[in-house]
Amino acid sequence: MAESRQLADKADAAAGRKPRPVIDRDICKGCGRCVAACPRHVLRLSSELNRGGVRPAEYLGEGCTGCAICYYNCPEMYALEVHTPAQGKPRAGRAGRAGVAGKASPH
Ligand code: SF4
Ligand code: SF4
Repeated sequence: MAESRQLADKADAAAGRKPRPVIDRDICKGCGRCVAACPRHVLRLSSELNRGGVRPAEYLGEGCTGCAICYYNCPEMYALEVHTPAQGKPRAGRAGRAGVAGKASPH
């Protein structure tokens, strides 16, 4: 049962229904600050190297609360954003779009 809940959480995160960090693995410098700062321990460094030859941060796929602490601890511009589902009324002109805490909003 717990396993099916985990799969549902990952599907929700992937579909933007739950908060989630979005990491650009090739911009990430693998410093690990976000991993250390996350109060939910839902980030880790990948076992695979990125184009820069470092192990980038990655999301475990579930458990993110959208607190954005990882974002505020990341020294690399454009490496990390936190996307959160829209709450209540959609923002003007952006119906249903998720909120983004990040240096580079994709829209
Ligand atoms: S937003 Fe908060 S809970 Fe989610 S990955 Fe970042 S630090 Fe962890
Ligand atoms: S803090 Fe930023 S640069 Fe450092 S590992 Fe996390 S995402 Fe990568």
